[in-house]
Amino acid sequence: MSNFASLVRQSNLINGQWVGADNGQTIDVTDPATGETIATVPNSGQAETQRAIDAAHDAFPAYAGLTLGERVALMRKLHDAIQDNLEDMAQMLTAEQGKPLAESRAEVGSSAAYVLWFAEEARRTNGAIIPSPIAGRKLMTTRHPVGVVAAITPWNFPSSMLARKLGPALAAGCTVVVKPASATPLSGLVWGHLAEQVGFPKGVVNVLTGSARAIGGEITSNPKVRKITFTGSTEIGKQLLAEASSTVKRMSMELGGNAPFIVFDDADLDKAVDGAIIAKFRNAGQTCICTNRLFVQAGIYDRFVRAFAERVSAMKVAPGAEDGSEQGPLVDDAALSKIEELVEDALSKGGDLVTGGGRHDRGGLFYQPTVIGNATSAMRVTTEEIFGPVAPVYRFESEEDAIKAANDTDYGLASYAYTQDLARAFRLQDKLEYGLIGINEVLIVAPEIPFGGLKESGLGKEGSWQGIDDYLETKYTCIGGL
Ligand code: ADP
Repeated sequence: MSNFASLVRQSNLINGQWVGADNGQTIDVTDPATGETIATVPNSGQAETQRAIDAAHDAFPAYAGLTLGERVALMRKLHDAIQDNLEDMAQMLTAEQGKPLAESRAEVGSSAAYVLWFAEEARRTNGAIIPSPIAGRKLMTTRHPVGVVAAITPWNFPSSMLARKLGPALAAGCTVVVKPASATPLSGLVWGHLAEQVGFPKGVVNVLTGSARAIGGEITSNPKVRKITFTGSTEIGKQLLAEASSTVKRMSMELGGNAPFIVFDDADLDKAVDGAIIAKFRNAGQTCICTNRLFVQAGIYDRFVRAFAERVSAMKVAPGAEDGSEQGPLVDDAALSKIEELVEDALSKGGDLVTGGGRHDRGGLFYQPTVIGNATSAMRVTTEEIFGPVAPVYRFESEEDAIKAANDTDYGLASYAYTQDLARAFRLQDKLEYGLIGINEVLIVAPEIPFGGLKESGLGKEGSWQGIDDYLETKYTCIGGL
């Protein structure tokens, strides 16, 4: 951890103070590639959360009262601080999360880009003058920060998922309480360090680690929290929605996915294979927009599976920090066991093991990149989020069948299709029930676009102008008697 040691914070940031948990307990942070403990962070609970919320609440009026110019200047400094520390932040991310260093660099770079985007969007949070239907009145809307925001973030993109929440919150004038995932807290705590370093006033950014249940319980029940923004599983998202209903908070939810990747007979085979490799194996398959199900049309099925499996079996599986690593370890034992169960289930139901199918020779949390052919809807991989390097391939006959199968899920986050038929591309845009659609393209996320799921994949959008909208209240004012 030598390179990034100066960025490691092993305490909570509450009201400008770096403090441990009240009970003195800690949680180990391990490197999933080696199992080594690289840091410890506080195991906080309800009381610390309440203090963090109080701090954010007390800091809110003054922070919201800064001029737009002052807030934008702070945001730009935060952006620059991330850029200046990009390499060390990327190494820290790989050390606690496991993804290849190239992916960590891209993630931290995108974090900086979100901060800059929202600094710019803050300048455009204007209201409106509304033509009055009644004489002697002026009608107008103005926009205001919602207040204290609580952000709960996952371990798979511990930096950029926070950037999409902290960026718009701070740009809008909100104060924040952040709870990073316990597996990857360092990439969350470092935001507290950088925010403090560039001059955000105390209490504006609070970060605390510990018991999800205790921290989450306080966040959902405390009336001072006006908005919760969450990225994680659909199961926990539903729980947070239910818990927060008693205090009627604004809720943004980025939840699970079950992305289809459809390859039509008329696809450019090489491009489809390139796309499938990235969309399936990025972050060892542990992203909510990763391909879960590959649907391949009968006429190209054999050629696609052969070419895809050849590339998959040649992938370099190695610790993320090793040169040329294309797939790192899974995040923990539970993830590894789940993958083993899903593969066993698929093979027991007639799946054809094309490549991979077991733990990798490297041992530990490494799993072989795997392709299973002749997948069917009876397999668990059809309905469950795989979240690992396993690609089930289903054969289909007609466009109609592919769309029907693709939409046959409670989720609706990302979808991908490869075709050279323009008319079909537009039909897919119309019929795929997904918040994100990539046609002949898989790297489709950027600060400029509204990222968000349909159906049980979420509520609200992150990125684009809509990404800041969720952090603003609209007030309407009527001035009469004119
Ligand atoms: P994942 O499968 O990505 O780990 P989770 O939904 O389990 O997704 O976790 C995402 C985030 O939600 C993590 O920060 C985790 O600690 C937090 N979390 C888990 N359970 C709860 C809960 N009951 N209340 C609040 N946060 C929770």
